[in-house]
Amino acid sequence: MPAAGIIFTISICYIGLLFAIAYYGDKRADAGRSIISNPYIYALSLAVYCTAWTFYGSVGRAAQNGAEFLTIYIGPTLMVTLGLFVLRKVVRISKIHRITSIADLISSRYGKSALLGSIVTIIAVIGIIPYISLQLKAISTSFFLIKQYSATAISSDLKALSSFQHTPLFVTLLLALFAILFGTRHLDVTERHEGLVAAIAFESIVKLLAFLSVGVFVTYGLYNGFGDLFSKAQSVPEISKLFLIDTQSSPYNRWFCYIFLSMLAILMLPRQFQVAVVENVNEAHIQKAIWLFPLYLLAINIFVFPVTFSGLLRLQGTRIDADWFILALPMIENQMGLTLIVFIGGMSAATGMVIVETIALSTMICNELVMPVLLRIRRFQLAQRKDMIFLLLTIRRVSILVVLLLGHAYFLLTGGFYALVSIGLVSFAAVAQFAPAFIGGIFWKGGTRSGAMAGLLAGFFVWAYTLVLPSLVQAGLMPLSLLTEGPFGIRLLRPFHLFGLESFDQISHAVFWSMLANVTMYVGVSLFSRPSLIEQIQANLFVDVFKHSGEMGKTALCRGTALVPDLGSLLERFIGPQKAEEALSQYLGKNNISFSQDLTADANLVSYVETLLGGTIGAASAHILVASVIKEEPFGFEEVLGILDETRQVIAYSRELEKATSELKAANERLKELDRLKDEFISTITHELRTPLTSIRSLAEILNTTPDLEKDQHASFTAIIIKESERLTRLIGQVLDIEKIESDRMGFQSVKIDSRRLIQDAVTATHQLVKEKKLRLNVALPNRAPFIVGDRDLLIQVMVNLISNAVKFSDKAEDFIHIRLAIQNGELLISVMDNGIGIAPKDQQAIFKKFHQVKDSTRGRPPGSGLGLSISKSIIERHGGKIWVESSEGKGATFFFTLPVSD
Ligand code: ADP
Repeated sequence: MPAAGIIFTISICYIGLLFAIAYYGDKRADAGRSIISNPYIYALSLAVYCTAWTFYGSVGRAAQNGAEFLTIYIGPTLMVTLGLFVLRKVVRISKIHRITSIADLISSRYGKSALLGSIVTIIAVIGIIPYISLQLKAISTSFFLIKQYSATAISSDLKALSSFQHTPLFVTLLLALFAILFGTRHLDVTERHEGLVAAIAFESIVKLLAFLSVGVFVTYGLYNGFGDLFSKAQSVPEISKLFLIDTQSSPYNRWFCYIFLSMLAILMLPRQFQVAVVENVNEAHIQKAIWLFPLYLLAINIFVFPVTFSGLLRLQGTRIDADWFILALPMIENQMGLTLIVFIGGMSAATGMVIVETIALSTMICNELVMPVLLRIRRFQLAQRKDMIFLLLTIRRVSILVVLLLGHAYFLLTGGFYALVSIGLVSFAAVAQFAPAFIGGIFWKGGTRSGAMAGLLAGFFVWAYTLVLPSLVQAGLMPLSLLTEGPFGIRLLRPFHLFGLESFDQISHAVFWSMLANVTMYVGVSLFSRPSLIEQIQANLFVDVFKHSGEMGKTALCRGTALVPDLGSLLERFIGPQKAEEALSQYLGKNNISFSQDLTADANLVSYVETLLGGTIGAASAHILVASVIKEEPFGFEEVLGILDETRQVIAYSRELEKATSELKAANERLKELDRLKDEFISTITHELRTPLTSIRSLAEILNTTPDLEKDQHASFTAIIIKESERLTRLIGQVLDIEKIESDRMGFQSVKIDSRRLIQDAVTATHQLVKEKKLRLNVALPNRAPFIVGDRDLLIQVMVNLISNAVKFSDKAEDFIHIRLAIQNGELLISVMDNGIGIAPKDQQAIFKKFHQVKDSTRGRPPGSGLGLSISKSIIERHGGKIWVESSEGKGATFFFTLPVSD
């Protein structure tokens, strides 16, 4: 058999090989050519689940309870398959929030609570230490077995280890060294260790191949295949009972409990969270892992029964525990090579677990336990220190060493108490306490920090009471009566039979009560406690991660002011100058911001920096740290809802649009109306222009082609041409006036005008018209009329328009026109009255609009353009007066206008 030196050299070489793989992996990752970017490596790295407990312990368990050992593999299979939704969600959340550990996730979800993070960390460390000690025990024992081999003296009796008492400590220190080398070579903002993952995947292959080699050797080398071996085993009564599931020795509740525990463990164990979530580089890998990982579990378990049976058949009578059959079988057959392979396989299983677990725990201890405390102690001025990276790495290195030494201490104290599998289950039960806060946290917005805290503490207390306390009794540190009589003689409180529950085994009993206490407290306290604002924000972001997805940076969570250079130097201290520079310039570049010394960071940049820091020191610490640089302004509740409740925003936005829509509708209607008026205007104008033009043109043609036209006719034709030309000029003048008035370009003169003279001039101007129609014109003017100030020509235009309208719309032989000038209420009041066709009330306002003419069924459209009154109205109003009409149809009309008197 190999000498200790050889075994030692092989072990060191093997770990050296692992380190080379890890180193290569890291180098490739740095160069941007990741070797773990394929789903097989991800699935293989999940197999870090299979520890020495699987490698050696499965056979031990199978020798005792038959197929029951399978529960530990059914659970993860179920979880990976059924829990795809859970795993995918956790991975997504962790990516967005740069979650570094399960403690970080829980603390982050419940309002970045440092206290909660530290509770989870403490539970994890206490819960996992026995599990680590189990690996130490496995490595030491296998080393001891191989070395101490003699056919009759193989024993795993730990007392026999006395001659090797330094082995476990030596193994512990060696593992600590490797964990430190693997896990804390440098600091990564994503807490990823690509090289480590590659090495772990490699170890998974090694332990699988080692197990399969022994399996094949036993089944086909020692026997003629499964059939031969199984039939030989069945002929031995003690062995044959293992073929059946004996509900006496392994009741259903235990099956259920173990499946349940291992389902949770696959996510809640710090190392599983590390490989499955933190180290995940691509969500799509989960899809592959769904079938690859269960396949791996199946493969590594296929030969458990053959090894168990042949061990029981061949090693009966020796003092070898079934836990060590897999090593002892090749040994008694003098298969030195195979023995070494098994040894290396077992070491792979144990070292993989120890390294990843201690790295994960050290991250938690550093980020959730030590840093928040250090950051809060102002005396240390930690945020101002330059050497943060070194400090962080040192904390982690020391944590790794401490965890391993604690594992070693536990091994020395209680090493003999639990069998391999039971120790593992004790740890499973501890981490299962995270489940309510964890699962509840990502699916239920109502879970609060107080609820999570109450649940965790209650569950952990029951766990300690039902599982740890008895082991202390066993170790002789507590009186035995505690177990048999209960504390203070209260039988209901006996740690193994709490509240009289007798029929469960120790583990199931502990799981039942601890989970009941945990879930009840979590839900109960959550329902009765009010979450703080930041808890509500985080709850929303976590539960609705797929809704809010994209980047968290897009949802500004922090309102505060800070200088970008301050944030930059903070980042520098924690992730190094180069990465800090890269990260900042990437952000500024993406958002088109140019850097300056007094640049203030917006809320998005602040949360971006906090998330980056969170990737290194955890959410809770990052929160404290950023708060120290930033003057955070408190949130208004409405604001937060505004940020988060996208639906509400969308609803509000669409409502605004609807508003906006009705305004647009009105504007559109108005435009349509204007457009219609414009069309009408153009058609009227062209019509009005064409009529005089046509007559001018035809008359001019006659004059041109008929030189010998009679003198009278010639005169009459030219008169018409002149009149029509005047009409044209007037019309064009009117259109121009309208255009000028509307565009406010009409130049108004301001001169003192005698109102009597104004009326007289207008009457003179229209004299001819009145005369032609043989109307009686009556002008009533006071002897002394006041002066007014304004534009004389424009005011005459108004009068002329009114008088000519009165003439135009007179229809009887004895028609008259009365023009009056009076002073009323200190104003000049002028009226033009006729007894013509009159205006219906419905048209009395409209006639002052452009182009409005009263169309009559008998008379048709009246002559004119319909612009006169509109122009008049504008002129009067510009002079500070008013114009209106009083009339009833068929009974004439009186137009009034007022003008202010000048003093
Ligand atoms: P125009 O410039 O063509 O005279 P106005 O704007 O002055 O047009 O008048 C608009 C319309 O008002 C006329 O077409 C007519 O229908 C009505 N109207 C104006 N004055 C009188 C009146 N004295 N009696 C009856 N209808 C009138």
